[in-house]
Amino acid sequence: MEPDGIDARVRQGLPCYVHNPNKLPAETALARVPHGPQLVREAVEDWAYFAPLLARLFPDLAGSAGRIDSPLLNPGPDFGSRFGGCHSVYIKADHLLPVTGTIKARGGVYEVLTHARRLAIDAQLLSPKGSSLALLEREVRDFFATHCVVTGSTGNLGYSVGLIATSLGFRSEVHMSADAKLWKIERLRRLGVKVHTHEGDFSSAVAVAREVASRSPDSYFVDDEDSVSLFKGYAAAAHDLRAQLHAAGIEVSEANPLAVYLPCGVGGAPGGVTFGLKSIWGDNVHCVLVEPVASPAALVQSLVGLGRRVSAYDFGLDNRTIADGLAVPSASLFAIKYISVLASGFATVDDEQLLSWVNDLWRMERLRLEPSAAAGFAALEMMCGLAEKPDWSGAATHVVWTTGGSQLPEEEFTALLR
Ligand SMILES: *Cc1c(COP(=O)(O)O)cnc(C)c1O
Repeated sequence: MEPDGIDARVRQGLPCYVHNPNKLPAETALARVPHGPQLVREAVEDWAYFAPLLARLFPDLAGSAGRIDSPLLNPGPDFGSRFGGCHSVYIKADHLLPVTGTIKARGGVYEVLTHARRLAIDAQLLSPKGSSLALLEREVRDFFATHCVVTGSTGNLGYSVGLIATSLGFRSEVHMSADAKLWKIERLRRLGVKVHTHEGDFSSAVAVAREVASRSPDSYFVDDEDSVSLFKGYAAAAHDLRAQLHAAGIEVSEANPLAVYLPCGVGGAPGGVTFGLKSIWGDNVHCVLVEPVASPAALVQSLVGLGRRVSAYDFGLDNRTIADGLAVPSASLFAIKYISVLASGFATVDDEQLLSWVNDLWRMERLRLEPSAAAGFAALEMMCGLAEKPDWSGAATHVVWTTGGSQLPEEEFTALLR
């Protein structure tokens, strides 16, 4: 162990599992973070409010009456045998989320919807109790067309934000990092979103986007590095999972804890989901955040603490990974306030593991995942192979969260399989 608490394996870029020494009992942690469980309940109510609007905007939501949720898949006993001592493995299939096919449909869509609602109320185009369908009226769309929604993204957040923003009539502008995939850029341009690409990494693209938005009073900035609203949208996912586990006959308890594996970039999505899960199940749920070996942004920031801003670069790592959704050198400090006291541990995984899981999941289960989305399987496999496993892992029901990929173009996906 090194003086600042970052394990040598992390510095060497080797896959590993790192127990979180700063985790607190759930009750203590939840009393200490900036917002209480009320935040999650508000998000659930807001999603219900927007459901009629979403059902009207997106035909693939007609069947779910406007709910954006994914199935909980049970891959069966053969699949579980891959994981040694950990038998009961489920998949929370957010790669199949309707509308955008990534977990960003939860955060990005939510933040733009709540922004639209607030703007319309302030302009007296919507009454606070009025139906969300009023946001589709001509007058409101014309008003939104004079406003712009801006974000910085490695690709997936930009798509979710750009899609919902343009669907509501806003102009939209997305700043992308050099590692953004070309097809993700082109898909945004086809929506009419103005895309700017930047030489540097994700953090520098976000900084440019923030600066551009701050210069225009008609622009709203979705700040992936610091957004309560994004976080709320993600947190509501925990309620969906609760209903699905219940339907599958799984009751979470001290004797049957839940272990959840969440791919992590800046920490907003996995942090929000962790917050939601801990609000429901407290100490009976264990969340493991999974990052690429080259980009353990949340791991290093959580272990070093909030007093000092650190990035993967400070530990000799280069942020180069095929997992473009997770290629983030520094975490959201807002998300770290939650993650550092709520997460049970962190795992780092390498590109080879990700590609091998993308292949296996396609062959065995016909899941179409992007590399980022396969990270949880690599983490679970690694953890089950540890000589000293966390004490909760043996009896747990394991849920691996797959976060994106169903909309990958065929040629991108076949290239990954090769
Ligand atoms: C964005 C993203 C994540 C992680 O979300 P963060 O909020 O950046 O931590 C995980 N998987 C995929 C596919 C993503 O696009």
